[in-house]
Amino acid sequence: MLKIYQKPEIQELKSDFLTQKKVQLFIKREDLIHPHVSGNKWRKLKYNLEEAKKQGHHTLLTFGGAYSNHIYATAAAAKEAGFKSIGIIRGEEHLPLNHTLSFAQEQGMQLSYMDRSTYRLKKEADVIQRLRDQFGEFFLVPEGGTNNLAIQGCEEIIDDQVKSFDIVCSAVGTGGTISGIIAGMKGNAKIIGFSSLKGNFLTDEVKQLLSGYQCDFQNWEIINDYHFGGYAKVKPELMAFINDFKKDYHIQLEPIYTGKMMYGLFDMISKNLFEENSRILAIHTGGLQGLKGFE
Ligand SMILES: *Cc1c(COP(=O)(O)O)cnc(C)c1O
Repeated sequence: MLKIYQKPEIQELKSDFLTQKKVQLFIKREDLIHPHVSGNKWRKLKYNLEEAKKQGHHTLLTFGGAYSNHIYATAAAAKEAGFKSIGIIRGEEHLPLNHTLSFAQEQGMQLSYMDRSTYRLKKEADVIQRLRDQFGEFFLVPEGGTNNLAIQGCEEIIDDQVKSFDIVCSAVGTGGTISGIIAGMKGNAKIIGFSSLKGNFLTDEVKQLLSGYQCDFQNWEIINDYHFGGYAKVKPELMAFINDFKKDYHIQLEPIYTGKMMYGLFDMISKNLFEENSRILAIHTGGLQGLKGFE
């Protein structure tokens, strides 16, 4: 139902630094899959849209913050697949709308704001019932798009070529993407998730997602050392790294997810934490619309 605009190919990154460190680093360009439904959001929405259609729904409803890649992607995906969409945005309305929300609205998404304390309870039945009373029937896509259908979609990031690497890395937010990668890798390689959020709860969160998906591979780890203060928090050295990375490798990253992953991966490489001649693959999960929020 969602179009693939460009097949996400694997590219090798080359530099004197990587040669010196005796590792081979590659990047899978999931960011190129679609101009607006980028990277992992495309993967996470694919089977959700199919299921919504199968159940006869005409409207998708989902949740997110004002700069959310998921809101942006869902608005575009809903339009492309012929659904109405409703975005429940955390907090108060701020006018004029920022880039993310004005884009979502242009795609036809109806925006509605939810105060932060209710937003924390958005999984509870009475909150959802109130949304049904207000908006009528809808297919609910959870915040960040993470559910079993999303994990199933993210399994498709993995093919035989990806399985041949020694290490596979991804950014982690809700944990849906890394869960799909773990399931899709079927025990191959070592999988490293770089958390964009502060705290150590994501390991348990991923364990829970995997058990709900009946998957019990153990060849993965979540690294919590590179969140730069927490979700959407940045520091000058992270921004400098993203600029340097673009200069050196001609690939754009953003500071919420992929920048933190790559910063962490380069830091681990510089500390010689990988065996000599390791073949490492980083997944570029996209999300570049988020950069506009930092301009
Ligand atoms: C949403 C997002 C993530 C996090 O994915 P989860 O499945 O929530 O862990 C990672 N990278 C980018 C670019 C994203 O937009």
